[in-house]
Amino acid sequence: MTGPHKTPDQPHHGRHDRGGLQQIHDPYVARLKPTEPSVCSDCGVVWHEGRWQWLARPAGAHELRCPACQRVHDRVPAGYLTLGGAFLAAHRAEILHLIDHHAEHQAAEHPLKRIMAREDTADGVLVTTTDAHLARGLGEAIEHAYKGELDYHYVEDDATLRVRWRRDA
Ligand SMILES: [Zn+2]
Repeated sequence: MTGPHKTPDQPHHGRHDRGGLQQIHDPYVARLKPTEPSVCSDCGVVWHEGRWQWLARPAGAHELRCPACQRVHDRVPAGYLTLGGAFLAAHRAEILHLIDHHAEHQAAEHPLKRIMAREDTADGVLVTTTDAHLARGLGEAIEHAYKGELDYHYVEDDATLRVRWRRDA
């Protein structure tokens, strides 16, 4: 017999209800109204048909700085992902690999979702992102793979998301 009592979904762990997560209104995205075609002077992403895409630079494109590069330039992350705990210390390399892999995949599909920086903290690692949803997605990918405790909350007028994950054993 194979798992007659197995539940199809992960059990809840007493955290926030994921359905309650709100939509982010990113001021960096909202305040920029590019004309078409436009290209980012820093990373080369192209504004085409109302969204940012990785395309060849169109002829006669306007130059500006895309919201992701503007955040990097201003050093203002949209998402903070803090990782900690003894399990992280013991599995650091593979967890960081998961983060890089997930982020690369996301950036290919969604050009404004990028990791800004990764730095060591006293208790683990801090990853900053140009997009709040990326920080959340990274946290959920880690939780999916390694369990642990995940929580997040919005700060600064709900434009910034802080995600914390930790696993101690
Ligand atoms: Zn850019």
